[in-house]
Amino acid sequence: MFKSFLIKYAEIGLKGKNRYLFEDALVQQIKYALKKCDGEFALRKTSGRIYVDAQTDFDFDEVVESLKKVFGISGICPVVQMEDEGFEKLCEDVIKYIDEVYPDKNKTFKVMARRARKNYPLDSMEINAKMGGAILNAFSEMSVDVHNPDIMLNIEIREKIYVYSEIIPGPGGMPVGTGGKAMLLLSGGIDSPVAGYMIAKRGVKIDAVYFHAPPYTSERAKQKVVDLAKIVSRYTGPIYLHVINFTDIQMYIYEKCPHDELTIIMRRYMMKIAQQIANETECLGLVTGESIGQVASQTMQSLIATNDVCDLPVYRPLIAFDKQDIVEISEKIGTYETSILPYEDCCTIFVAKHPVTKPNLNVIRRHEENLAENIDELVKTALETKELIIATE
Ligand code: ATP
Ligand code: MG
Repeated sequence: MFKSFLIKYAEIGLKGKNRYLFEDALVQQIKYALKKCDGEFALRKTSGRIYVDAQTDFDFDEVVESLKKVFGISGICPVVQMEDEGFEKLCEDVIKYIDEVYPDKNKTFKVMARRARKNYPLDSMEINAKMGGAILNAFSEMSVDVHNPDIMLNIEIREKIYVYSEIIPGPGGMPVGTGGKAMLLLSGGIDSPVAGYMIAKRGVKIDAVYFHAPPYTSERAKQKVVDLAKIVSRYTGPIYLHVINFTDIQMYIYEKCPHDELTIIMRRYMMKIAQQIANETECLGLVTGESIGQVASQTMQSLIATNDVCDLPVYRPLIAFDKQDIVEISEKIGTYETSILPYEDCCTIFVAKHPVTKPNLNVIRRHEENLAENIDELVKTALETKELIIATE
């Protein structure tokens, strides 16, 4: 029955003169999402609305699932298009529509007509009244409630006539790309994919960097990160994933620095390297999956130590989230099952039994001086040998 969708968007409506930029970005993201669906679709932007019109047969559920992943959409309304063949015929068609969409007729309703085409013989008040009467005649169980109806029946008179009453909630947020770009430190864990999803939901496009430590971390561990990036890309569009070989840097820190400071010093080098790639790729910030107190390297003192090496802002969307809340989001967005696969991660391999939980910045800086001889060279090599994978599904 449905061949079109009316896309509702919330916050982008507020953007004044720049509104078209947001709408264009939203159209781009919708096109990307629909590419994966069977069928052909045309997008139309008319008078502050976006319509998706199917040009061929399509799978309704598949399209709705895809649209539910497009940030910036607040609601997805399946629309029936009708030719204008007179008001009588419209009433018949609307009654048929209600009959099919609402098998249970024990409902209240309100007709909301909008007459965008002014030469239509009835004005919107008349349409509301007459259509309401016709519906009451057809279905004796139904009744009118103008304040809080179960069914808000929208009738829009344009070249064609559009009828809709269902609003499927979208994900909200802002279209990806309208908020600039950031570099996500993506590990194989539960947290960082969720952090990437959350920052992207605010319209930020993401690139990602993964620190790989072969042979201590396996190809499978790397593939797991690629798979996570692919899942996140369903929401964000393609993700440029930079894979850095971190082994030599990690070994060097292990050799030269106190073992209880290894994690924190490693994290500082990850941030430094991520920042260099961020600067080369026009990213405006770094994003991590850290949350206060979750592990030793995420105490407020440790966060001072990692922030210390960054000039770019570090965004930590999960900073105040409990693990359980993060797990729930990862289940909802589809990353959880992949995140819990048991492959090793480079932070766990050399990790000390009792890592410092309250590192002193001056002490850390002093111990890092032990790395002076080779570290710049090692960082340079790591950057020169990085691998770029474009994660998309
Ligand atoms: P996650 O579940 O995201 O792995 P975590 O709870 O394991 O997080 P840490 O290992 O302390 O926490 O890592 C903190 C953050 O540092 C991660 O959320 C991620 O952003 C980044 N990070 C850690 N290890 C790596 C890695 N190997 N490559 C890229 N980023 C990493
Ligand atoms: Mg981790």
